[in-house]
Amino acid sequence: MSSSTRIERWITPAVRALSAYHVPLATGMVKLDAMENPYSWPSNIVDEWVNELRRAAINRYPDPESRALKNALRDFLDVDQSVPMLLGNGSDELIQMMAMAMAAPGRTVMAPEPTFVMYRLIAEVLGYRFIGVPLREGDFQIDAEAMLQAIAMHQPAIVFLAWPNNPTGNLFDRGTVEAIIAAAPGLVVIDEAYYPFARDTWLHEFQRYDNVVIMQTLSKAGLAGLRVGMLFGSSAWLDEFNKVRLPYNINILSQVSAAFITRHADLLHAQTRKIAVDRETLYQTMKTLRGVKVWPSQANFLLFRVANDARAVFDSLKSRGILIKCLHGAHRALENCLRVTVGNEGENTLFLDALNASLT
Ligand SMILES: *Cc1c(COP(=O)(O)O)cnc(C)c1O
Repeated sequence: MSSSTRIERWITPAVRALSAYHVPLATGMVKLDAMENPYSWPSNIVDEWVNELRRAAINRYPDPESRALKNALRDFLDVDQSVPMLLGNGSDELIQMMAMAMAAPGRTVMAPEPTFVMYRLIAEVLGYRFIGVPLREGDFQIDAEAMLQAIAMHQPAIVFLAWPNNPTGNLFDRGTVEAIIAAAPGLVVIDEAYYPFARDTWLHEFQRYDNVVIMQTLSKAGLAGLRVGMLFGSSAWLDEFNKVRLPYNINILSQVSAAFITRHADLLHAQTRKIAVDRETLYQTMKTLRGVKVWPSQANFLLFRVANDARAVFDSLKSRGILIKCLHGAHRALENCLRVTVGNEGENTLFLDALNASLT
């Protein structure tokens, strides 16, 4: 029997229908495609960090509950030490854990779209039906009527709301989110991956509801390489999700490193504040470009539409050494759209020069 016969027989149709999450090679490029923080740490901080790593017992399994890191993260985020918390190997893993714990034939996962693609990807792998409810054209707000109708009709197990939304950069209207929470029969996940830039959160309100969990991550704050995602919610929900978590999902190097840098909160905050300021400068400049429509953003990226062919602009930028994200073809609402991550000042200037050259 050939392996392709076996694969057709055994790999599930949902998985065979997928394409793997594609990450383009970026060697030597100005990398503005993945919402990474462009800044490194001063050398004295790096030295302190390496000293802590020296003491990490890599011959032992790490603390399965990551207790020290959780305490450090609560302090860093200014949440009470009593708030239950679950960590994932990136928030991607938390999405997967919640979806796994709630998966059953015939169930639905829902999100307004366009949004973060992992909600759909993970849901479809696990056999859910994924319903994407189109955002309003123009301002990318949730179409409340359509969303509430879809919730009533499909009774979703999970509703994901990225707040701010990726790739549109906006915060959804709070009243609409409250209406969704009230209408949802299952769990509502508020994904605050861009909290370091939006500085607005549901962390201090979610306990008013019995069906809301809040997800954050260290990735966009400047630690994408560590893979640490945080989930806050009632212990009733989190205890269930914890059962599907692999016991040592946060490795010792990530536990030590993340706990270390959250004790230098000033450094991370200074970096993310600078990125937010530069985002506004970049936005104002892009607004003046002919043939470009740029949307305001509460995150560390900007979504923009070009009057010409977005793919050609993307390729032209790439040939000039600038890697951004082309979203044309990803969703109906993203026709000729591109997304650029805010870099450091030098990178933003290189991007603008290359964009100007690519538009003509
Ligand atoms: C980047 C991103 C994440 C993924 O974060 P990780 O913690 O790196 O897995 C989650 N949600 C949204 C909306 C994102 O844009």
